[in-house]
Amino acid sequence: MFQLLRDGRARTRAELATLTGQARSTVAGRIDALMAAGLIAPAGEATSTGGRPPATFAFNPSSQVVLGVDLGATHARLAVTDLASTVLAELDAPLAIADGPEPVLGWVADTGRKLLETAGRSLGDLAGVGVGLPGPVEHATGHPNNPPIMPGWDDADVPGILRGHFDAPALVDNDVNIMALGEHRIAWPDVPDLILVKVATGIGAGIIADGALRRGAQGAAGDVGHIAVPGAEDIVCRCGNVGCLEAIASAQALAVRLRTEGLDVSGPSDVVALVRGGDVTAGRAVRQAGREIGSVLAATVSLLNPSVIVLGGILAEAGEHLLAGIREVVYRRSLPLATQHLRIAVARTGAQAGVLGAAAMAADHALSPEAVDALTA
Ligand SMILES: [Zn+2]
Repeated sequence: MFQLLRDGRARTRAELATLTGQARSTVAGRIDALMAAGLIAPAGEATSTGGRPPATFAFNPSSQVVLGVDLGATHARLAVTDLASTVLAELDAPLAIADGPEPVLGWVADTGRKLLETAGRSLGDLAGVGVGLPGPVEHATGHPNNPPIMPGWDDADVPGILRGHFDAPALVDNDVNIMALGEHRIAWPDVPDLILVKVATGIGAGIIADGALRRGAQGAAGDVGHIAVPGAEDIVCRCGNVGCLEAIASAQALAVRLRTEGLDVSGPSDVVALVRGGDVTAGRAVRQAGREIGSVLAATVSLLNPSVIVLGGILAEAGEHLLAGIREVVYRRSLPLATQHLRIAVARTGAQAGVLGAAAMAADHALSPEAVDALTA
């Protein structure tokens, strides 16, 4: 019953009894328990059909808060949100992930406490912490798994370390998955099948299918950056293989290529600046990268039939060139049935996608049937 109410709509006892198929008395008891836990609140009276108008009840997302943490290689973004993803306090700061788990998570805890204060909430209001890391994570345990750019983090007990700072559960996932969650929750809540593709130093995808994030058996689902593309057999990827999509079409690969062509480029942000400034060579290179990415996405469209593909990561900021290259190949190479209603767009949540997704992951855990049962028991 509570999961029904999470959509925010106010409902009467009678409506809830009809929707759940439960007896009126069962529904009444459940409403009392959820009210006592603060998870729902009275929401006024429904229109009367004669006699006393019935009371309605709705989800009360401000009863608790969660902390979302999006850690990159060199930056961090933290946000305190309510249980319906409304941001109450937010902060963006430089941070070196290579400093290791204890110093980084200690800083996260200090900063998180300050943000709670800014939001006017106490540690006791914190229902959970969601963390996104820039590397592979075993979601079930929250431990990073051989992350290439995170020295000292392999198999670190991230939830355990955070438990030492907060009396709340911590959930951990990779950065692309939390971006997919955030973009889905905020921008496309009614779309059950969505793929978010992050094009930055690397390339990865987060898969939402039937409304839920799909991580795969080992958490490696969506690792599209290491799918081989034709014509790149002589290019070695950082994974040790040759011909990977990421080795030819990531923002980093573009930066290297444009530099060899004589352009003044030191990293991905310079590529974006050049394209936005109208540089023809850079624009053409980004569009070609879009086509390479599109060839891999055409295969994922055939496999998963998403209705939306969203682009995130720094190269998405290069605008139409990337989008145009991807659209060109995806629409040409996929079957009409799969692309009839397919939309391909830049992520609307922008740089906030990850932190919003991390917070949503923590809120989902706090509002899961098991957690709600425990809270109302
Ligand atoms: Zn590779």
